[in-house]
Amino acid sequence: MAVLDILKYGNPILKEPCDLVKDFSKLPPIIDDMFDSMYEAEGIGLAANQVGINLKLFIVDITHTRETEDTHVFINGTVMKCSKETEYLEEGCLSVPGVNLNIIRPKEITFRYQTIDEKWHQKEFNGLFAKVIQHEMDHLNGILIVDRVTALEKMKHQKKLSELMEISKSK
Ligand code: ZN
Repeated sequence: MAVLDILKYGNPILKEPCDLVKDFSKLPPIIDDMFDSMYEAEGIGLAANQVGINLKLFIVDITHTRETEDTHVFINGTVMKCSKETEYLEEGCLSVPGVNLNIIRPKEITFRYQTIDEKWHQKEFNGLFAKVIQHEMDHLNGILIVDRVTALEKMKHQKKLSELMEISKSK
């Protein structure tokens, strides 16, 4: 088990869409490291490319809410359907620390994904769970929360974003 470095805004890897998982046998140690890294950073979700792993896979732990009692691993996911109804939620991101943004997203989604046993599932999600899934799916498609707001909104955080960009460049 190991705590991995979480890539920050400005790192080009975060802009690359991830590849499908084909070999499930190599996942267990990767997933262990991802949970260690997420807990160390006190996050509620983490996508594989945030720790430099090019796989379509993310983890979620929102057990602090009453929405779910388990931790979750979502593999090769696709959002199949979105509700017309949307809502704003303030989102943060471990790759953009110190920047919280109001992001508008569909309230409910139908999500198709695989679990570690390679089984396929299709389920509806709402509330915080739906938001976290959409946030992490954005990561796997190379999209960050700053890409989801207006240029003006992004500009308000320019100082912080420039600092993160410097950190990413120096690595
Ligand atoms: Zn994030």
